[in-house]
Amino acid sequence: MKEFDYIVVGSGCAGLSASLELAVNNRKVLLIEQHNIPGGCATSFVRGRFEFDPSLHELCGVGSAEDPGFVRKMFAKYGVDIEWCEATDCFRVISTYSDGEPMDVTMPSGKEAFIDKMEYYVPGSRASVTKFFALMQNIQDGLDYISGDKIDPREIIKKYVPMVRSGGYTTSVVFDALGLPQRAQDILSVYWTYLGVDMEKLSFLHYASMVNTYVTKSAYYPAHTSHEISVKMTERLRQLGGTVMMGCRAEKFLFEGDKCVGVQTNLGAFRAKYGVLANINPDIVHGKMVPQHLVPRREKKIAAARDRKLGGRMFTAYFGLNKTAEELGIKDYSIFLVGTSDSVKEYDSLKHIATNNYAIMLCYNIHNEAFSPKGTCVVSFTTMFTSAEDFNELDEKEYFKLKTKMAKRFMDLLREKAGIDLSDAVEEITVASPYTFARYLNAPEGGVYGFETTQWDGIIPRTIEMTMGLDYKLKHLYTIGTNGVRGDGYSSAYTDGQILADRALAQFEKEDA
Ligand SMILES: Cc1cc2nc3c(=O)[nH]c(=O)nc-3n(C[C@H](O)[C@H](O)[C@H](O)COP(=O)(O)OP(=O)(O)OC[C@H]3O[C@@H](n4cnc5c(N)ncnc54)[C@H](O)[C@@H]3O)c2cc1C
Repeated sequence: MKEFDYIVVGSGCAGLSASLELAVNNRKVLLIEQHNIPGGCATSFVRGRFEFDPSLHELCGVGSAEDPGFVRKMFAKYGVDIEWCEATDCFRVISTYSDGEPMDVTMPSGKEAFIDKMEYYVPGSRASVTKFFALMQNIQDGLDYISGDKIDPREIIKKYVPMVRSGGYTTSVVFDALGLPQRAQDILSVYWTYLGVDMEKLSFLHYASMVNTYVTKSAYYPAHTSHEISVKMTERLRQLGGTVMMGCRAEKFLFEGDKCVGVQTNLGAFRAKYGVLANINPDIVHGKMVPQHLVPRREKKIAAARDRKLGGRMFTAYFGLNKTAEELGIKDYSIFLVGTSDSVKEYDSLKHIATNNYAIMLCYNIHNEAFSPKGTCVVSFTTMFTSAEDFNELDEKEYFKLKTKMAKRFMDLLREKAGIDLSDAVEEITVASPYTFARYLNAPEGGVYGFETTQWDGIIPRTIEMTMGLDYKLKHLYTIGTNGVRGDGYSSAYTDGQILADRALAQFEKEDA
């Protein structure tokens, strides 16, 4: 049986960063992927003369070349050079304030610009919004500290008191405690769908770590779709001596005693000297891929926990349009077309097909004219379902009808809310549902956000579990990805892969010594 130091299963964002982290540390890595191209969500597909990005709207943590964020620094460490485009505004949102008045707000990137604009829309908000940013920065610094190897509790008490004090609370509780005016809260709530949990359940730490990065360092996306990132990471892994096998599906993890020693795949068995990292939902790993007597009791209990829910299941329509953004009157990179700024009500309405009237419209050509052929543009609409209930009821015919219905609903939303009509310009439409993502990614119910990051299962509990509780996990086998310490999203998954690869280096090899 061919042996490697480590085997990484799945080439999603987390699988790619984990492989590179191990490879730059001179370990012999095998990366396997069930598909014929790498990336998982981070990929692209072609219809007619258009290339579409199936998932990425924007990445946080990239930052500019002069002021790099953690993602740019990570890629520099790995020797991966991406051509980035900056989304200069955070978002435009068309919705309704809690007081019933219409909301049409565009928030810029950059902390000072963001605070100024908020003061413009919500006079009197400056002091509390400034406090809000100071708290978010403390949280971000504190989270970086506690994810590291050497943690001194005295340092945490000395430097990260605001993080510790707000750590146990939900986002809405912290908003109230900061005295943020209701309209400012309504605007700041827009980001909740990026995390998939309404503001009354969403852990503030998770919210803060993402929003602070988006606003202070701006959002970025690759010039040539997220496929560019995944291909460059894979190429770099090969250059560093890694082995990459596409069309290779892991079926079972192999154990000797209670130690994971390899992977059984459709292309044969491979041995891992030190360990395996699996970019797969832990319920699948524990439920189907390891001997049942080895699954730790605690993992079974967590899997059965009633309030552990899967996060967002995406529904996206991709449009190739035979007019330019300018001709169609599209000026914004992203517009959140939202029913209500009350995230609890919206979360409920996103459970069902009949009531899901939400979409994020994105036009990739706004900051990157060359994204599609001359005279055209690419637009996508994404909504999220907070339950898979309605999809379980659909038969084949209804399923295809639903795709058409939703694509039309998205166009109607854009026309009604923003006055932009795409109907005369449609050349290509493709629709992806939770089924599509489930099938393509091996993600239960197409839940690409992993498990909801609520208070009891947010970044802090997950980090503490990781730093203190590795002994009750499966030996020499970690799951990585969007279900991991940092939750959903590209930068979170890259970070999770990197953190867990470093843990494996420190833990697995020490255990073997
Ligand atoms: C429509 C949509 C829009 C989104 N928008 C954004 C956004 O704007 N910004 C953002 O940051 N995030 C966004 N996300 C979320 C983000 O894409 C995901 O959270 C992230 O990419 C998940 O990465 P991952 O590493 O966990 O795994 P995945 O992307 O799920 O990859 C897992 C990989 O493992 C492979 N695999 C699984 N099982 C096996 C097996 N048994 N054997 C071999 N290979 C296997 C799969 O084929 C896949 O390649 C969006 C997602 C979607 C779907």
